[in-house]
Order: sequence, then C-alpha cells, then structure tokens
Amino acid sequence: MSHDYDYDLLTIGGGSGGVRASRMAAQKGARVAVIEEDRVGGTCVLRGCVPKKLLVYASEYAGHFDDAAGFGWSVGDREIDWPKLIATKNAELDRLNGIYNNILSNNGVETIIGRGTVVDAHTVEVAGKRYTAKNILIAVGGWPSMPQIPGIEHAISSNEALDLPKLPKSMVIVGGGYIAVEFAGIFAGMGVEVTEVIRADHLLRGFDMDLRTQLEAEMTKRGINILPHTTIEAIEKNGDSYTLTLGNGDTMETGAIMYATGRAPKTQGLGLEQAGVKTAANGAIVVDENFRTNVDSIFAIGDVIDRVALTPVALAEGMALVNYLFGPETKAVDYENIPSAVFSQPPLGVVGLTEEEAVARYGAVDVYTSGFKAMKHTLSGRDERTFMKLIVDPKTDKVIGAHMMGPDAAEIMQGIGIAMKCGATKAQFDATIGIHPSAAEEFVTMREKRG
Ligand code: NDP
Repeated sequence: MSHDYDYDLLTIGGGSGGVRASRMAAQKGARVAVIEEDRVGGTCVLRGCVPKKLLVYASEYAGHFDDAAGFGWSVGDREIDWPKLIATKNAELDRLNGIYNNILSNNGVETIIGRGTVVDAHTVEVAGKRYTAKNILIAVGGWPSMPQIPGIEHAISSNEALDLPKLPKSMVIVGGGYIAVEFAGIFAGMGVEVTEVIRADHLLRGFDMDLRTQLEAEMTKRGINILPHTTIEAIEKNGDSYTLTLGNGDTMETGAIMYATGRAPKTQGLGLEQAGVKTAANGAIVVDENFRTNVDSIFAIGDVIDRVALTPVALAEGMALVNYLFGPETKAVDYENIPSAVFSQPPLGVVGLTEEEAVARYGAVDVYTSGFKAMKHTLSGRDERTFMKLIVDPKTDKVIGAHMMGPDAAEIMQGIGIAMKCGATKAQFDATIGIHPSAAEEFVTMREKRG
C-alpha cells in the first residue's frame, strides 16, 4: 500500500457499489475513505429498491383483504394511514443507514460528508479541503431525468413519490419502464386513480412481448388506465390539480404528475472535465473491463457507468474492482444471464433472452408457455392469471430465456437463474421433480412446444 497519498482508495458515492468496494478494500488492508454528500446508503437503500418494495408490500394488502373473504374471513373497514406508513418506512431507512455507517466504521473506512469534486488524477476536494489517493473510485450513481417541457417543475420523480405528504385522488405517471410500472401498482393499491402515459405502444421496452402484454392486461384489471402512443406537451397548475396538454391537443386533469422517464448518470459538476475523465454523450463514465477510466488512477462502477443499473450488478462490479486493485484473484464481471424482477403487481421475474432476442441470435427457437389461474384464486375469486415462458435453443437444448408474471416471480426466478448459469438444458428442467402444489413447478412440467 502506498504512503505517498492520504488514502489507497478514495470513493466518491456511498451507495451500494461504493460501500461494498470500500469495505472490501479496507478488509484487504487498504486505507479507504468514502465521500457522500447525503446519507450513506445510496439510491437502492434510500430512494429505490428498499423503500419501493416496502410500499409495494403495503399496497398489496388492498388485494389481500379482498381475497380473504373467499377463505371465510370477514374483514372490516380498511383504510390506509399513509403518513403512518411513510413514517414507519422512514424509520426503517434510518435503521439501514445506521447499519451502513457501522459497516464502514467497523471496517476502518472513514466517511467524509460533503460533495466531492475531482481535482486531478489523485486529488478530490470536499468543502474546500483536498484529499489525495492512489486510486479514486467514482460511484455516484444516477438521478431521475425528465424531458424539459413547460411546467415540468410541477412533476415529481420517484424521489418525491416515496415521501408524498398525502395521497392524491388521481395521478398520471409518465413512462413505461421499471419505475413507472412499480409506482403505478403502488398508488393503484393505495386507492389512487392511476393513468400511465407511455409514448410507445407497450410498457417495458426490452422485455419479452408476451410478458409486456400480459402485464398490461393485469394492470388494466386492477384499474390502471394505460394510454399508449401518448405524449405530454405541457403541465399547468390549477389550484390543487394539474392540467396536462397532450400531444394530440387534448387536455387531462390530475391530482399529481410523476415522471419516470429514465435515470441519467450523476456526473455533472463532478470535476471530470478538469481531471480529463472521458464521458459518453449521456454523461456516463467510460470504463474498460477493469472499470478503469482513461485516467489510469480513476475508476468507476455502478449506475454512473450506465451498463446495467441494478444493485447486485454494482456490488459485483465493486468486488471485481477491489480484487483487481488489491488482489489476489481477478475475475471479470459476467453480464450474461442477469436475473431481474419488476415489482409490478403482479410482479415479473426474468432471466436470459426474450423470444425476440433469441430469434435474432439463434434463428428458430422452441418456446414453451403456461398460463393459469393460481390455486389461491380459485377460492379468492380474484381474476388474475399467472404466466410462464421458457425459450430453448433446439440445437443444444439449453434454456436460454425464462420469463414469469405472477406471485413470487422474483423469488422463483433466482433459482432458475442458477440453473441457467449452469447451462441447464430443457431435458434437465424436465428431469427435475416439481414441488407440489406450487406455481414454480410449472417450470419443470412444460412439455408442449408452442406451435
Ligand atoms: P427505464 O429506462 O426502465 O424506462 C424509462 C421509460 O421512460 C421508458 O418507458 C421510456 O419509453 C420512457 N421515456 C424516456 N424518455 C421519455 C420521454 N422524453 N417522454 C416520455 N417517455 C419517456 O427507466 P426507469 O426510470 O424506469 O428506471 C431506471 C433504471 O433503474 C432501470 O433501467 C433499471 O435498471 C433500474 N431499476 C430497476 C428496478 C428493478 O430491478 N426492479 C426497479 C427500478 C429501477 P420508451 O420505452 O419509449 O423509450
């Protein structure tokens, strides 16, 4: 370890990737500090995955109460105390923030609170004070990005949606990505009249088309109004509500307007230009396979490099980088077959290729699907379908894509992801004994190829 500098590793950004890399580097004996302008925890813990999923749990109770009657329960009046939910959610975030602080201090990582700007290849400035390091790691993540239309200042992003002081009667959510569909489910479950406005023809570009259309059908059944081929040109505030002017000239009234139109790397004002660090047109830091930028001593991981904006990927990148810098092993991050989930209602779980991608890559593929009403809903009476799909390369019999919409899709897909990482064939799926009665067993009992 070098003593020419204050630190061996100086990390800017105390989110999932930055904290993991810093802690691991310290465990290997490096002198490490993390610079964070807000609270340690980052998007996932403070403004993303964690609070989002807590609110998904909360909103699912609406359906559970309805389901209970079919099982003999009488459930009395129900009402959501939104401020109470937000307060308990925030208390949990405080607890997690404390855990993250402890993880850093227990491993001997110093935390510097303030905004870090890169001065040169080995120097970062925070509130006028300069710190030097052999290696600088940029893990500052991303931030919601919104189109600059008139009145956009009236729109909220997922940041504010997680902390709304009270629930509006109605809400328009713009965008058809992960965040938009997850928040549509949350607010619809809370009794808000939700309209999702998308410019494309379907939600969730990049997902398997069967899953996209099946999810749209289920969201529509839950009362979410999806408006495809629709754009918003202007937003105007009228007292407590907002008037939206659509691309076709129509207008629409709503109690709140949320934009979930993507996230951009948070690289502005970071001093990258003065340090000579190259960025792409969207601000993402350009790195090589070892997460090294064009400046030898500066590295970047996580959402700021805009490869795969998922927490477990940032963790894997952080660990790979630390092994590369401080040894002993060096193993590149494998971006193939990354399982992921969308916590829509019902949720989606996916791993591998969509049918469209599989056809483009392999030509003819075998497709197996299963659609059914989950056993629970035979008594609950809920009109909800579960859908599963496997895509197989006929030449090798390997399963190259697995897709599911239905309860516990995220939990189920993690195991399927392991099987696919091991290169499992359809014959091996078929040779696996099912767990009965479960929805997951469908993945080992799909015998009929789709014609
Ligand atoms: P996404 O990139 O997933 O989706 C953006 C959506 O906004 C798309 O539907 C896109 O439409 C639309 N859009 C973009 N620009 C405009 C515009 N100017 N006007 C109207 N619509 C527009 O971004 P998200 O913000 O939903 O999420 C960001 C990332 O965070 C995700 O990619 C994901 O990696 C991560 N994430 C993961 C979660 C999970 O794993 N469960 C949960 C939440 C986030 P179009 O399709 O037409 O381009």
